[in-house]
Amino acid sequence: MTPLEEIREDYLAMHGALDEPSIDAHLTGRELEVREMTRDVVSREVAPRARQADIDGEFPTHGVQALADAGLMGLVFPRELGGTGDTNVAYATAMEEITAACGSTSLVFMTQMHAAYPILKFGRDALAKQWIPGLLDGSIYGSLAITEPNAGSDVSGLRTRAVHDPAASGYHINGSKTFITTGDRAGVIVCFATTDRSKGRKGIGAFIVDGSQAEVRHGVPFHKLGMRASSTAEVFFDDAFVPEDAVLGGEGAGWRVVMQSVVKSRISAAAQGVGLARAAYARTLHTLRSVSPGRIPDEQLFVLGTLRGRLAQGRLMLITAARHVDENAEVPTGLIGMMKQSCTDLGWEVAAECARILGPLGDLADVGVERCLRDAKVTQIYDGTNEIQRLLIGREINQITAAPKQEESV
Ligand SMILES: Cc1cc2nc3c(=O)[nH]c(=O)nc-3n(C[C@H](O)[C@H](O)[C@H](O)COP(=O)(O)OP(=O)(O)OC[C@H]3O[C@@H](n4cnc5c(N)ncnc54)[C@H](O)[C@@H]3O)c2cc1C
Repeated sequence: MTPLEEIREDYLAMHGALDEPSIDAHLTGRELEVREMTRDVVSREVAPRARQADIDGEFPTHGVQALADAGLMGLVFPRELGGTGDTNVAYATAMEEITAACGSTSLVFMTQMHAAYPILKFGRDALAKQWIPGLLDGSIYGSLAITEPNAGSDVSGLRTRAVHDPAASGYHINGSKTFITTGDRAGVIVCFATTDRSKGRKGIGAFIVDGSQAEVRHGVPFHKLGMRASSTAEVFFDDAFVPEDAVLGGEGAGWRVVMQSVVKSRISAAAQGVGLARAAYARTLHTLRSVSPGRIPDEQLFVLGTLRGRLAQGRLMLITAARHVDENAEVPTGLIGMMKQSCTDLGWEVAAECARILGPLGDLADVGVERCLRDAKVTQIYDGTNEIQRLLIGREINQITAAPKQEESV
């Protein structure tokens, strides 16, 4: 067996042993098939490269392309655009698998979906045909660009401006974005900009910017704590041009686009949390088994027992919320918030516990738990920080528990 084949065998044994049949019973036959396909691709093409890519900060082109070639990048997209028409549950399950092998690859993978989805949902047919097939087959990279130096949690504060030019039948975009995943190489950017700051949220639009034009400058990727093989960069718009028919839902529809897009992106982040928790657990189990081949000591087994239950809860929460998105047009903000916050906190907390019970081994790149811990941090930050999620959940609690108005109780 070659060293790469050994890693693959190890990976499959480790992760197969963690499947819980009672939770798998919540997945359809097709969703289980998607999981197996994903696990097969990641065990061959992603897991064996993940450790070195993290150390070198090398963009995971190989793994992302392998996932695209296997038809996995378009899980929730229609067939006519290169997708497979699968459920959000199938997507979440695939994301969990990819993340368990390599957080960075999962971040690039999900960002392709985050760029393509608003175009599918709000773009005209021609726009969808122009950009979505390339995003799904991996021939172009996409970014979703909301965050600015002074606007992230508070989207309404964004300053990137879009000025209508009727003579040119389009808009000129000026401003800058920061912390943009794949921003260093994005061929297409869903850029949120304001046409009128005085209108706040109502002045925001979602503009599909061709990232190859000279008026778009791509920054150099930042050095980061985790997800090191993915790229995160600034993007500058110096009079970038966007045709009128490349404004999603028309001028002023940007807030609606953000709100719908975050439902998908929060499923992605939550799946990353569960995937990182699983990876940390699997690597810990594997390591403890190697150092104590007979029987894992009780004090470590107690911790693993607790974590196994928490992992099962996280996966159930993820499947339940994604299923709700599949089956309902309206999705409560609180449900999405609870899923995002609890599953990403799970990734961080399980990785920290695993590092603790491993002692010095938890610190070793070869064991891989330290990578889970570093990768987990940012999942609590992006796609709406977990403080913002708690705020949204709290608002819903207030609405649900508000005292009935006087006239209603008469
Ligand atoms: C690796 C990485 C990749 C990213 N990828 C993208 C991307 O592809 N596209 C994109 O647009 N953005 C991206 N981001 C940016 C990310 O989404 C934002 O950084 C995040 O939403 C936080 O927004 P902010 O930067 O404005 O921070 P701030 O809002 O300034 O947050 C700072 C702190 O204040 C807290 N806080 C803020 N407001 C409140 C409040 N009202 N109540 C309580 N606490 C509050 C936050 O929770 C946080 O702890 C990425 C970031 C990272 C690190």
